[in-house]
Amino acid sequence: MKRVLLLATTTGYQIRSFGEAAERLGVRLVFASDRCDRLEDPWWDGAIPVRFHDMPSSVEAVVASVRGQDRDEGLDGVIAVGDRPTVLAAHISTALGLPGNPPSATETSRNKLAARRAFESAGLLTPRFEVVSISEASSPRTNLPYPVVVKPLALSGSQGVIRADDDQSFRDAIDRLSRVLRAVDVLIERESAHGYALVETFIPGKEYAIEGVLTDGSFRLFTIFDKPDPLDGPFFEETIYVTPSRASVETQNAIVDAIAKSIRVLGLQHGPVHAECRVNDRGIYVLEVAARPIGGLCSKAIRFAGEDGSLATLEEVLLRHALGEPIERYGRINRATGVMMIPIPRRGVFRAVSGVEKARRIAGVDDVIITAKPDSTLVPLPEGRSYLGFIFATGETPRAVEDALRAAHDSLEFHIDREVIVAQ
Ligand code: ADP
Repeated sequence: MKRVLLLATTTGYQIRSFGEAAERLGVRLVFASDRCDRLEDPWWDGAIPVRFHDMPSSVEAVVASVRGQDRDEGLDGVIAVGDRPTVLAAHISTALGLPGNPPSATETSRNKLAARRAFESAGLLTPRFEVVSISEASSPRTNLPYPVVVKPLALSGSQGVIRADDDQSFRDAIDRLSRVLRAVDVLIERESAHGYALVETFIPGKEYAIEGVLTDGSFRLFTIFDKPDPLDGPFFEETIYVTPSRASVETQNAIVDAIAKSIRVLGLQHGPVHAECRVNDRGIYVLEVAARPIGGLCSKAIRFAGEDGSLATLEEVLLRHALGEPIERYGRINRATGVMMIPIPRRGVFRAVSGVEKARRIAGVDDVIITAKPDSTLVPLPEGRSYLGFIFATGETPRAVEDALRAAHDSLEFHIDREVIVAQ
């Protein structure tokens, strides 16, 4: 049985989707994570505990475990899920002689400042930017013209990303980001990048997400998602992703071209790619290129069909790719698909949601999945890093999909109580 190593910081839905895909393909998954103590799933028997801030001992733990357990089998491929594991995945594939990314390329891609510098020196279109040290930022100032965007160097999902339009909102944004970076769940990552904020000029325009895969340095586009809701701040909550893109063929070609150039500049070589860009009259601004697949449940919004018409998930296609199998025969299905990441409307204690059945009955809606746990505290952006859930839709046109997602969202009613803070 072929074996693929899955590296992740989470144990949620995306991991389960890989587990299901592996079962269908008859592939054995080996799981390595810093969350092994939280695994409830029987799939992850023999999971390898790693620490993403301690590269040498984590590489050693995986290599020793793989060699020790099953001498004849070894590993056939490595996949990173989420941003943090991409660097360790690169080190492990290098150590085991498997196809993957050079570690330095993944380090650059997951540090927003390093990536900006690399793109700028290669002559790619970038916003103007500067870096601010959080600890020295008692009265922070920027030399850039407003509006600007203040962001962490190494978080994801728009956490801590804040637009500022003047000196006062700039100071507030830095202060708010500093608190995000000093929160316990961020401090435990032990990243030196968390001591800094990146400040960039605000790029107006439309935003797109790009999903694809690299094979020995050559990029294959799976799809471009439109993000039809304007993302103008002050916080940058993702909501709707719809594919195929309604952008002109010229714009789509220019996007793919800019992403392929950015990939070359970073030096990424092999494996899944998820990228984001903003587009306006001046051209394509690549915001980021990550050496991992699209996050969370969103991968369900890309569906593949083989030449024989059989359907496949992104996870199945990526597992085949990790095993070195050809994946050319898989293309995106012929219909429009989309997802809405249901935003958290306000901070509070989540009690319940009504209208889910009604939302599911709307024509085109495939599923409504509420991921927030009843009685948990909901934290919106910029401090939070999760959604209430996801809505999926399929249709004849991207417009129909977008309408179905919006109608489904309108049917949902969330019951959120105020948090009661007990004085000590
Ligand atoms: P993350 O990796 O957390 O998603 P990004 O740098 O991609 O962080 O920023 C998150 C979102 O913030 C982007 O998707 C975009 O909508 C917005 N954003 C980030 N930088 C800029 C910028 N310079 N100008 C305009 N919007 C931006």
